[in-house]
Amino acid sequence: MKLRLLAATFALIGMSFGAQASTECEVSINANDMMQFSEKTLSVPATCSEVTLTLNHTGKMPAQSMGHNVVIADTANIQAIGTDGMSAGAENNYVKPEDDRVYAHTDVVGGGESTTITFSTEKMTAGGDYSFFCSFPGHWAVMQGKFEFK
Ligand code: ZN
Repeated sequence: MKLRLLAATFALIGMSFGAQASTECEVSINANDMMQFSEKTLSVPATCSEVTLTLNHTGKMPAQSMGHNVVIADTANIQAIGTDGMSAGAENNYVKPEDDRVYAHTDVVGGGESTTITFSTEKMTAGGDYSFFCSFPGHWAVMQGKFEFK
């Protein structure tokens, strides 16, 4: 009985440490009906081998007219990825399939919806020039910010 309690205590301690360690590798951002992200910068330490990203669409408009996603890529590639994403269309979440310039992207969501992804940072380099943006047609030019990995 005592042993079992002890094991349970250790399990609890382990869980809380685990949660603490991963929190710095978790980022979250809101987007609204006015084509605005809530953050200009998302930062995670370069020690994160995996990052969990949550996008909350706090607006009311549907995904067809005011959809948002989050795409993470080299800053220099935003426009090219956005242009190819437009051709890829809604069925591909406005991201060209198998686009190796894209480190990670969420699905497109509409007002009131949220989406969470966990992605590997294995192809990213500490201190690289990364950005996040929304690849919904017409949005990338204004809906973008820095993704810091350092
Ligand atoms: Zn958008």
